[in-house]
Amino acid sequence: MTDIIQLLPDNIANQIAAGEVIQRPSSAVKELLENAVDAGATEIKLIITDSGKASVTVIDNGKGMSETDARMAFERHATSKISNIEDLFRIKTMGFRGEALASIAAVAQVELKTKQSTETLGTFIEIENSRVLKQEACAAPNGTSISMKNLFFNVPARRNFLKSNAAEMRHIIDEFIRVAMAFPEIFFSLTSNGQQVFHFEAGTLKQRVVQVLGAPYNAKLVTVKEQTDYMNVQGFVGKPETAKKTRGDQYFFVNNRFIKSAYLNHAVNSAFENMIPKDSYPTYVLYIDLDPAVLDINVHPTKQEIKFEDEKIVYAFVQAAVKHALAQFSIAPSLDFTLNADIQSLDAISKPFTHQNQEAATGSSLYKTFTNKHQAHIIEPNENSELRHWRDFFVKKETDVSYEQQPLNSVSGAQKTPIPVYDFQHQTYIQLHNTYILSASNNGFILVHQQHAHERILYEKYNLAFHSQVHTTQNSLFPITLELAVPDAVLLEDLLPEIVALGYAIEPFGTNTFVIQGTPADVAPGNEKHSIELLLEQFKHFSSDIKFGKREKLIRCISRQHAIKAGQSLQQKEMQTLLEELFACTTPNTTPSGNPTYLEFKEDYLDKMFGK
Ligand code: ADP
Ligand code: MG
Repeated sequence: MTDIIQLLPDNIANQIAAGEVIQRPSSAVKELLENAVDAGATEIKLIITDSGKASVTVIDNGKGMSETDARMAFERHATSKISNIEDLFRIKTMGFRGEALASIAAVAQVELKTKQSTETLGTFIEIENSRVLKQEACAAPNGTSISMKNLFFNVPARRNFLKSNAAEMRHIIDEFIRVAMAFPEIFFSLTSNGQQVFHFEAGTLKQRVVQVLGAPYNAKLVTVKEQTDYMNVQGFVGKPETAKKTRGDQYFFVNNRFIKSAYLNHAVNSAFENMIPKDSYPTYVLYIDLDPAVLDINVHPTKQEIKFEDEKIVYAFVQAAVKHALAQFSIAPSLDFTLNADIQSLDAISKPFTHQNQEAATGSSLYKTFTNKHQAHIIEPNENSELRHWRDFFVKKETDVSYEQQPLNSVSGAQKTPIPVYDFQHQTYIQLHNTYILSASNNGFILVHQQHAHERILYEKYNLAFHSQVHTTQNSLFPITLELAVPDAVLLEDLLPEIVALGYAIEPFGTNTFVIQGTPADVAPGNEKHSIELLLEQFKHFSSDIKFGKREKLIRCISRQHAIKAGQSLQQKEMQTLLEELFACTTPNTTPSGNPTYLEFKEDYLDKMFGK
């Protein structure tokens, strides 16, 4: 027998292990920047040559290291940040594995200069291939300066795997930005081959985000901020017009750590549903904070993925927070944050977001800012609008006019517009194509989509009826028997309490059979049976849409179903009532699903169109 197993020499073992942590220059950038942040620096400078292939240097003014620590820092599993397994669940620092410096030292040449403010002299260490070449006392400013040179000088195979300078630089910039965005209170600069690429003064979160995304974003960000006992979300989403054709400016940070999460990305996208074209991506920079105990940041060595103890909660919360923000700025349709049932039952989550609480909170300032807004889809002078679309718009017969189809419609948030119609009673309304109602407004005219408008009115009516339990049920002359197929009967049985709360008087009557005694007032006599069947049909369509609760789905279905349709001719009085009711709504400007109910054409815009 021959024994063939042997222990790998340390430096080889380190090189192999380093592969986990340091794949390219940008990995070192991330680790070194994070170390500087963890050291409490208020100023961090990153200096790159040759896209990091020649050198990566990070200079910080943090707490520095003692002589012994400076040497220890390069040992594998050497860290000052955790000392036992429990610490893993209360991590407050960016690093904790104690592997970065050991890894870098295994695959590059490293020079470290560090000094603590309590000392007069600092320490200089030179190390390569995991071997210390030099260690001596030296004069140094407070803080740490660390350089990584000739990455993979001793692992040519890996060096050959590095990409073009442009590609490696892109990675470096990505990492730099991710750290800089997470810590706006710290000054960051990036210099590449002697040229300053970024210079971020310390400032507020918004300032930092604008520094990164570019000045034009200053007026295009909507603030997101929601706090509960369980978690906080803050940050910004771009107004719908900033949505891009490519996935670009999308950032999630969890406890200041940049993460990638397709799941949470979906939550944000869904909050933007119907507000941006299907194939475009919203801009967002969102910071989630929650107790480290409900996180597992240990799943991936480079820590861009994260596991939440309950990701459903985080999903629902993020989605609701973004919806809320958009609604507050009157960009989104409504305040209906319906979370799914098991999430709803959680106290910390349900408090700020359920309808019940919304009701209780109607006196709150938040609710008032929202209800006070009658923000229309204002038409603003827009250089890019082309007149031919104007015609397309009028000719369009379809009931669902979506954003893409409205080049003239630009959404503008954060502005309050009073009810635009100046006098409901004393004006003549014009109905166009039996679909649009033209009405004079205070400073121009508005064009109301009759079906969308009515859908909004009914939606708010049913919501109110649901909560106040006051509904206008009209009793049917004769009870009507409704026989259903088994699946429909089961569904109706399930929905019965909600349906009754909406104003239907309906009861089970033997196997798969129900009697209808009454309906909401807006159901035409003779239509009772049909209206229930339609409701069930629509509800089934909606069923795949998990983001809405039962009640919300029902209300949406029923409002859509009962709304007057496009193509229906209306009398003066009916148009007047429709407009009066629309502008009495909490959110008159959109349908529940986010389509505009009316467009406002302002005088100054009209003047401009006519060359005045
Ligand atoms: P980790 O960050 O996971 O602890 P590292 O290998 O990145 O592991 O760093 C090892 C240790 O070296 C850190 O725990 C810290 O004590 C020290 N250290 C590293 N960089 C710095 C720095 N810029 N300033 C002060 N101390 C540092
Ligand atoms: Mg570290």
